[in-house]
Amino acid sequence: MYEHFFQCPYCWEEISMLLDPSVKQQNYVEDCEICCNPIEVAAQFNNNILESFQGNSLEQ
Ligand SMILES: [Zn+2]
Repeated sequence: MYEHFFQCPYCWEEISMLLDPSVKQQNYVEDCEICCNPIEVAAQFNNNILESFQGNSLEQ
C-alpha cells in the first residue's frame, strides 16, 4: 500500500491515506481521521507511481 500525506480540506491538519497502487483510478469517500468529515478522494496511479491526487470536501 502507498501512504499519501495531504491536508484535510476541513480542519487543515496533515493526514495520511492508504492507497492501493495496483488500482489505476480510484475514487471514494473517506472520513478524516482528525475531524471525521467526509473527504472525496480521487487518486490516479501510473506504473505504481502516484500521478495525481485530490482530496476535496463534499461541501460546495
Ligand atoms: Zn479533518
